[in-house]
Amino acid sequence: MLNLKVSVIGSGNWGSAIAKIVAENAADNKDIFESEVRMWVFEELVAGQKLTEIINSQHENVKYLPGIKLPSNIVAVPDLLGAVKDADLLVFNVPHQFLPRICSQLKGNVPATVRAVSCIKGVEVSGEGITIIANYISEELGIYCGALSGANLAPEVAEEKYSETTIAYKVPDPSDVIDARIIRTLFHRSYFHVSVIDDVAGVSLCGALKNIVALASGFVDGMEWGDNAKAAIIRRGLLEMTKFGREFFPESSASTFTEESCGVADVITSCSGGRNHKLGAELIKTRRPIFELEAELLKGQKAQGVTTAQEIYEFLERRGKTQEFPLFTAVYGIIFQGLDSYALPQILEDIEQKL
Ligand code: NAD
Ligand code: 13P
Repeated sequence: MLNLKVSVIGSGNWGSAIAKIVAENAADNKDIFESEVRMWVFEELVAGQKLTEIINSQHENVKYLPGIKLPSNIVAVPDLLGAVKDADLLVFNVPHQFLPRICSQLKGNVPATVRAVSCIKGVEVSGEGITIIANYISEELGIYCGALSGANLAPEVAEEKYSETTIAYKVPDPSDVIDARIIRTLFHRSYFHVSVIDDVAGVSLCGALKNIVALASGFVDGMEWGDNAKAAIIRRGLLEMTKFGREFFPESSASTFTEESCGVADVITSCSGGRNHKLGAELIKTRRPIFELEAELLKGQKAQGVTTAQEIYEFLERRGKTQEFPLFTAVYGIIFQGLDSYALPQILEDIEQKL
């Protein structure tokens, strides 16, 4: 009996769906895991009642994952340090803009033996540098962190409709009890198929960058340009994602982008459904300020592509590389600089000629 204690940090749309999977597997594998799974909830009032109390009494996250019964072994905890106390494994799942504050609270309170998996789709850009989220967590907390990312629209996964995902986890120390098999056991379900690889940079980048492509695909739908245009955006997007990996994270593997669920499959699913796609389409139709639209459309949920487009643009601009990533640059321009989305074919063609 290993009695590994797992805590999930985050309880949004994906945070709650992943907590459900982890709790199901913890209950089914009592020889490995403690059955109770603590889930940190950013406390708020919903119809006058604390969200943690609602989750613990009704076993449903009525705000972020309504209509889905959560396993009763999930315990919602409003205090971050209380949620991670004595945990062996932390699963990070919050919108990436909230992570620095969370890490600053956790710093010094997590033993170095703890292991983590990040399900966050984003990057951390500050000063000159860019850091994948798994490495950011590792550096901030002094613990090893892998990454989970895939074609995983949370509402479908929560309804137990079949999907695949990719986990990058390289066992940091051969004597670790938590190995790739245990990580897979924690996440794999009959409806959620896990493939474990060791390309943490590739998996992390795919999850972050595909959100920019999904916004562009939303623009295409907002302009009613049809399926050929969407396929073109998917192709160009995947090329830029792979190029970005090759250029700035040479340790990442191109096959992660083109062959894994976290790569090509997530680009396809995110360009058809999902919040970034929806927000992109609505932006083109209404031309309203993006964060106002996000708040209205998503009701507290976040579209990570908007901040990621901003962060990637700033990173590329500092290196004089925006021209080499025309789609990423155009998405930023359309959202923040009033660039006309109807100019997309021209922008992509101009750059093609210069390459
Ligand atoms: P979400 O978009 O539903 O975000 C809302 C969450 O943020 C809520 O839990 C809310 O309580 C919390 N929050 C609000 N203000 C906060 C603050 N100041 N500090 C801390 N937390 C605060 O969240 P999500 O869908 O669970 O997304 C988490 C990550 O998972 C993101 O990186 C996202 O890209 C990724 N992801 C999402 C999906 C999906 O379909 N939803 C699928 C795969 C991956
Ligand atoms: P959105 O955040 O755009 O909804 O995408 C969810 C996702 O990452 C699907 O894999």
